[in-house]
Amino acid sequence: MEEKHILDQISANVNTHSSPSQLKITDIRVANLNGAPKHCPLIKVYTNQGLVGYGEVRDASSATYALMLKSRLLGENPCNVDKLFRRIRQFGGHSRQGGGVSGLEIALWDLAGKAWGVPLYQMLGGQFRDKVRMYCDTDVDGKHTGLDMGRALKARMEQGFTFLKMDLGIELMLDEPGCLNAPLGFLENIRQYSAKAISHQRGSIDYDLMVGKNYEIFTIPHHATGIHVTEKGLDYLEHYVAEVRSVIGYEVPLAIDHFGHVCIEDTIRFAKRLEPYNIAWMEDIAPWHYTAHYAKIAQATTVPICTGEDIYLHENFEPLMQAGGVSVVHPDVLTIGGAMELKKLSGLCDRYGVAMAIHMAESPIGCMAALHCAAAIPHVLAVEYHSVDIPWWNDLAVGIDNPLFRDGFARVPDAPGLGITELNEELIAQHIHEKYPGQWEPTDPWNKEWANDRTWS
Ligand SMILES: [Mg+2]
Repeated sequence: MEEKHILDQISANVNTHSSPSQLKITDIRVANLNGAPKHCPLIKVYTNQGLVGYGEVRDASSATYALMLKSRLLGENPCNVDKLFRRIRQFGGHSRQGGGVSGLEIALWDLAGKAWGVPLYQMLGGQFRDKVRMYCDTDVDGKHTGLDMGRALKARMEQGFTFLKMDLGIELMLDEPGCLNAPLGFLENIRQYSAKAISHQRGSIDYDLMVGKNYEIFTIPHHATGIHVTEKGLDYLEHYVAEVRSVIGYEVPLAIDHFGHVCIEDTIRFAKRLEPYNIAWMEDIAPWHYTAHYAKIAQATTVPICTGEDIYLHENFEPLMQAGGVSVVHPDVLTIGGAMELKKLSGLCDRYGVAMAIHMAESPIGCMAALHCAAAIPHVLAVEYHSVDIPWWNDLAVGIDNPLFRDGFARVPDAPGLGITELNEELIAQHIHEKYPGQWEPTDPWNKEWANDRTWS
């Protein structure tokens, strides 16, 4: 009795998560958050030792991409991250389809870190920095001027941000006569069917845009829309950028995203107009897999070219880098395949002389994953942040700095795993996605999902 009492006392005062070799995955559940800034499918991976790992599927994606992998991970030791990643890698794809594999890889690292008592950045090789520069994406909804955008960006600088990005796209000219040229009637189609996507970036992508005529219009690639920008249109865009610079000055980096679905030749004409305005990079000016389009524009302008947030697996960046098509790669840790894939991409950046900025438009789980990676990768310009205007975002996770940002930088957590001790369940409950209710509900139907997973015979 005396001995049992002593043992009880000891076990009450020791870390019961101290048997990493015996750790086993017992369950995987999800909660679909909305508005942080977009639809964020959050993941919990449960274990036999009470440890819970946090992960997240890429923004504006589906929890199904993670849940379909549950049966492949149950009973496995989450500390064997690489082994399990290789088991599930075949089920990832580009853009949002990479979100399940990537989000689970992050949850595995979180568990491994908690089990062994080390932060994620340490498992990736240690730090190049203990605080990370954040760049702040800034949208101004609806019709506005470069002065309006300049003032919005200036407000970001006053909040401490030291690196800026704005959207600048052809939608601003949809009602400006003589600025755009397209097969007659097509611009009307864009106004009618995809206006929401192109004029309201924050939370823009939802189910309604992915059906019927909306989907058809929304998914016409840049080179196939037939839209051209006239000289008057280029004057309009150049004037906009000049106005922005007149407000924010020339000393702060300014990147540009979402130019629109315009052929590469007109994008080159636009880029040449941008050259006097010291643009940090132009982003996603063509579907990323058209290597020749990227090489063509990179050779034609001095504006640095950037893409990558939709690329799954580090090796798929290499053709673009080999062709000289990008000066900056822009991976999302929740699309590329997770933290180790991002680390491997940094090796390609070294080989080809390409900088990295990290895309991030997710909850604090995705943000912490990005911060740990940015800490462990040498040539990172900055990590994106999309949630400045969401007052409750920072409170979603307990254990991280709050406020997260000081003078435009975020400190890299030193606590084990991602550095999140727990999630704010009440706050998550207040922001559960109305179309995907439920919070960490049982997912037993996914326990027996099965296929012959060998990809060769
Ligand atoms: Mg982007």
